[in-house]
This record gives sequence, structure tokens and C-alpha cells, in this order.
Amino acid sequence: MSISDYTLAIEDLTVSFDGFKAVDGLNLYIDKNELRVVIGPNGAGKTTVLDLICGKTKSTDGSIMFKNKELTKLSEHEIVHAGVGRKFQTPSIYENLSVFDNLEVSYPKGRSVFGSLVFKRTEEIDARILEIAKEIFLEDFLDMEAALLSHGQKQWLEIGMLLIQDPELLMLDEPVAGMSVSERQQTAELLKNISKGRSVLVIEHDMDFVEKIADKVTVLHQGRILAEGNMKSVQNDPAVIEVYLGH
Ligand code: ADP
Ligand code: MG
Repeated sequence: MSISDYTLAIEDLTVSFDGFKAVDGLNLYIDKNELRVVIGPNGAGKTTVLDLICGKTKSTDGSIMFKNKELTKLSEHEIVHAGVGRKFQTPSIYENLSVFDNLEVSYPKGRSVFGSLVFKRTEEIDARILEIAKEIFLEDFLDMEAALLSHGQKQWLEIGMLLIQDPELLMLDEPVAGMSVSERQQTAELLKNISKGRSVLVIEHDMDFVEKIADKVTVLHQGRILAEGNMKSVQNDPAVIEVYLGH
């Protein structure tokens, strides 16, 4: 395979904070429609990798190719525009707006070919909002003020606000933290569903959850890859047990 066959191809990625390499010569390749989970101890550099991909942090060295675009040269805004969506650990929804309105404000502007026909555009947007609301288990909550949703529902809403922009790569940092058991189960379904149409990169600590969703798991340790493969091979890897799973 050549680099352009991957949705995301990261090579030799390094970032140094005052001489400390939080990410150190990382190579990571993510396929189209792949759901990749990144695990590893606290401070391994997991969140920093997402910061680098979305342009929040600038790399010291290396390359991040996304659909033949070099992301290290682009601004955060340009990276979103290229088709990369990123969910942070704390949801950034509009608490005082309804679920519907939260999704509507996230709908990409100026995409419709019927831009001048207001009614047509409204129909199109409404249909898309309903479709997304179903996907994130909130179709019965469209009129509810977002502040009244459960913690898990707020997380889903933020995922919906990213999905409505139809990113080709969606990145999520610890999406099930603080969720109930049933919400975790539903989130597993949601992520599997989402990855049918795009690549998904998830950072997660909850190993039961990781086992449910992962195609391939990457274990990060001190800014480098310690192991990579299917869940079984990673779980049985002595180095992984030593630095992460054994604790
Ligand atoms: P993880 O998400 O795996 O727990 P992080 O990526 O948040 O780890 O952090 C990796 C290391 O990089 C930590 O030691 C953290 O303190 C450091 N770090 C992260 N971001 C910065 C920054 N902007 N400036 C300085 N150090 C940072
Ligand atoms: Mg983190």
C-alpha cells in the first residue's frame, strides 16, 4: 500500500515541549472506514496526538497526511474544513439551546446546491438533523433544552454536532468517561455505526469498551508505539501488561 491509500498517514511525528518529547517519532496509519483505538497510561501522549492532528499543537517534526493534504502546514480552521472533526473530553454544546438548534447551528453553511431556495434548504437541513438525531439516540429529545440532557446524552449531542459536518476522520478523546453502563453500550453501537462511513480515532481507557469497538488497538507509551494489533495480541503482550494493563 502507498501512503495515499490511507485516510490518515502519520510519519515520524514529534513534538517537543521545552526539550521533553511528548510525541516521539510516531508512525500511525489509519484506513478508510477503520475504527482505531489508542490506549496507554496517563501522560503517554494520546491527547497530544489528537492536538497535533487537529492543528491545536504544532509539530516539531514529521508529517501528517490526510487525503493527500499535509495537515502540519494547515491552520485548525483549514483542518476542520479538510474533513477532520474532533471531540474534546468535555462537551462543548450550547446548554441553553434545544437539541434541534444545537444540530442546526452545526450544519455546514453554504453546502446546499439549492442555496437560494430557502424552503428547499430548510427541508434538506431538517431531514439531515432528524437522521443525525436518530443516530445519536436523541430523536425524542429534539425540543429539549440541552442543559436538561444526561451527561451521556450531552456527549452524544456533541458527536452529532460533528457528524452533521460529515467529517472523513472523526476523533474522540475518552468518549465514555462518566457514562452509565447502558450509555456505554449505546456509544459502542454508535461508534461502530459511525465508522461504516468514515475513519474514527478513539482514545479510551475503559477496556471493556475498547474490546467492543476496536478493529485495531495502538498502545502508546512515552510518546511512542509500544504495541499495535488486534485486541487479543495487545492484551497478551508482556510489554503492554507491564506498563499499562497490569495496573
Ligand atoms: P495522555 O493524553 O496520554 O494522558 P497527554 O498527551 O495529555 O497524555 O500528555 C503527554 C505529556 O505531554 C504529559 O507529560 C503532558 O504534561 C505533556 N504536555 C502535553 N501538552 C503540553 C503542552 N502544551 N506543554 C507542555 N507539556 C505538555
Ligand atoms: Mg489525555
